[in-house]
Amino acid sequence: MAYDDSNIFARILRGEIPCKKLYEDDYALAFPDIHPQAPTHVLVVPKGRYVSLADFGATASPEEITGFFRAVSHVAKQLGVEESGYRLICNAGPDSHQEVPHFHAHILGGRALGHLLAPG
Ligand code: AMP
Repeated sequence: MAYDDSNIFARILRGEIPCKKLYEDDYALAFPDIHPQAPTHVLVVPKGRYVSLADFGATASPEEITGFFRAVSHVAKQLGVEESGYRLICNAGPDSHQEVPHFHAHILGGRALGHLLAPG
């Protein structure tokens, strides 16, 4: 799948749509999910143009991959959920309900999250 520059996270990264920036560096931007599913629900998106985890893993540079995952762990710590725990979700493809075709990770926490999968 080719990257679509009109996706909502691309527009946020370009500053065309506002977001509450929680963290930003050369590799990633973090902001709250607009429809939170837990007391803490933050999205971390890489700055590069990657459709999915498959695309990111296969074509991003080692620096981008390291930078992205360092940003994710930094944000979890910044959010205060490192000790209480959190879940990292990267939806990929139709079965996962990936809605936005720009690779991203959800950080969910702030309460006991229960088992891995909610009923579909
Ligand atoms: P996914 O299903 O993994 O693609 O998740 C996309 C997420 O983006 C959903 O949880 C949406 O609530 C969230 N979302 C969509 N538009 C925005 C926005 N403008 N700002 C913040 N989160 C958004």
